[in-house]
Amino acid sequence: MESAAVQEWINHVIKPEQNEKYMDNGKTFIDETYINETLMAKKQPEKQEIREIITKSLDLQRLEPEDTAALLNCTDEDLWEEMYATGLKIKEKVYGRRIVTFAPLYISNYCVNNCVYCGFRKSNNHTFRQQLTMDELREEIKALVSKGHKRLIMVYGEHPLSDVDYIAETLRVAYSTKVGNGEIRRANVNAAPESIEDYRKLKEVGIGTFQVFQETYHPAVYKKLHPSGLKANYGWRLYSLHRAMEAGIDDVGIGALFGLYDWKFEVMGLLAHTIDLENKFGGVGPHTISFPRLEPAVNTPFVEKTSYKIDDDSFKKLVTVIRLSVPYTGMILTARENAKVRQNVIPVGITQIDAGSNIGIGGYAREALDYNRQQFILGDNRSLDEAVRDLSLMGRITSFCTADYRCGRTGSCFMGFAKEGKIHNLCMPNAILTFKEYLLDYAGEETKKAGEPLIEQELAALPNPTVKAKTLEYLKRIEAGERDLFF
Ligand code: SAM
Ligand code: SF4
Repeated sequence: MESAAVQEWINHVIKPEQNEKYMDNGKTFIDETYINETLMAKKQPEKQEIREIITKSLDLQRLEPEDTAALLNCTDEDLWEEMYATGLKIKEKVYGRRIVTFAPLYISNYCVNNCVYCGFRKSNNHTFRQQLTMDELREEIKALVSKGHKRLIMVYGEHPLSDVDYIAETLRVAYSTKVGNGEIRRANVNAAPESIEDYRKLKEVGIGTFQVFQETYHPAVYKKLHPSGLKANYGWRLYSLHRAMEAGIDDVGIGALFGLYDWKFEVMGLLAHTIDLENKFGGVGPHTISFPRLEPAVNTPFVEKTSYKIDDDSFKKLVTVIRLSVPYTGMILTARENAKVRQNVIPVGITQIDAGSNIGIGGYAREALDYNRQQFILGDNRSLDEAVRDLSLMGRITSFCTADYRCGRTGSCFMGFAKEGKIHNLCMPNAILTFKEYLLDYAGEETKKAGEPLIEQELAALPNPTVKAKTLEYLKRIEAGERDLFF
C-alpha cells in the first residue's frame, strides 16, 4: 500500500470526542500520584490486615486499591502461601475445577506502530510481512477445528489492510468454516482500539471478547515505548474498551504487558481500569484480565535490555494478587509461559489458557514454527492433546464451552451468574459435555484414559440432582452421536 494512502487512513482513526466523554474533569482514571502514594502508604502491611483482606476476597468482594497495595507489598512467605491457597479457593468457588481452552490465530502482521518490544513493529525489517487471504484463513480454521479447538483469539496488527471491515470479514469466515463436527463457536479478537462505530460492526458479526492490553499504565513509560504511529496516543488506548462497551460489546478483556515497568504499579493500573469500567457501566467490569510477560522477539533488543524483567516468583505473586482483587473476573495465562510455569501458576486462579498454539501467520495449516513470521517466541509448544492430558492429570477438566456467549450470558448477565457462584449449575455441566465431545472426537488414547475418570468425578460432584440427571442424559446422547448440547 502506498504510504500516502496509509497516512490518510491514519489521520481518520482517532476520534478524540469519543474519549473525552469518559474522562473525569479532563483527567484519566490513572492517577499516578495516588497509585504511588497508596503503594507507599501500605509499604509494611500487618499480618492481621492481610488476613482481613484475604477474608474479603473469599467473600468474593472486589478489593479496593488500598487492599491490593497491601497484598502487593506483603513480604511474609507464609502469608503468600495462604494467598496462593485462597486464589485456588476463589477460583473454584466462582468457576469450578475447569479451565477454558482456546487457540491464538494470527491473521495479519502489517503494522503502522513502532512498539519497541514487538517483533511486528513497523521498523523491524527482519519480519516477514503477511496477511491471510480468506482462502488461507479457511485452511487455518480447518487445521484448528480438526484438532478440537472451538474458541479462538484472532490477532491483527494495526494497519489499513486489517481495518475493521477486514476483521469483520475474517470473523464471518471463522464462524462459517466447518469440518465434520468441528467448528469455531466463539471468536475473540485482539486488535487495535476502534471507534464506537467500528466496534458496532464487530458486534454485528458476533464477536466474542474484544481485548486491548494497555501494555503499561504508566503514562511517561508508555510514551517512551510507543514512539510513533496511532498507538502513541495513550488515551485512545486507555478508553478503547469503554468505547467497545458503549457499542454493545459486552465482553472486554484488559491486560498489561509485564516487563515494561514496575509490576506493582501495573497491577494497581489494572485494578483502576476495572473500577472505572464498573463505575461507568453499571457494575460490569472486564470479562477477562491478561498478564502477558515480555518474551524475546526477532531483532528486538529492547527485550534483553529492560530493567523491569519479572522473575517466576514475582509473576506468581502478581497473578495471585489479581485473583484476590477481582474474584469474579476471568484470568488468562498464555503459552508465552513454559509448561512448568503454567503448571505452577494455573492453581492460583487461572480460568483460561491457550493450547496447541502457533503464533506464526499461516502456521497451523503449514505446521511450521518459523521465527520471522512470529510476534515473539512461545514458551509452551505442547499440542492441545498433551495440554488437555496434563490438565486432566492436575484434576482439571478442559472446557470448550461457548454457551455463555450464544445464550446471551455475557457481560452484565454473566457477571451476575459468576458473582453469585451459580456457575456450577451451568458452566460445570457444559464443561463436562464439551470435554466429552473432545475425548470422543479428538483425544489420543492416553488423554482419554486420563480424562474419562474426571467426567465421572465431576458428574458426581454436581450439587443439583435435576442438573445432574440432565447432564447424564446429554452425555448419553453425545455418545450416540449428537453434538453441541448445552445448558
Ligand atoms: N496490534 C494490536 C495491539 O498492539 O493492540 C493487537 C495485537 S498485539 C500483536 C497483541 C499483544 O501482544 C500486545 O498487546 C502486547 O501486549 C503483546 N506483545 C507484543 N510484543 C510482545 C513480546 N515481545 N512478548 C510478549 N508479548 C508481546
Ligand atoms: Fe503493532 Fe501491536 Fe506489535 Fe505494537 S504490539 S507493533 S501495535 S502488532
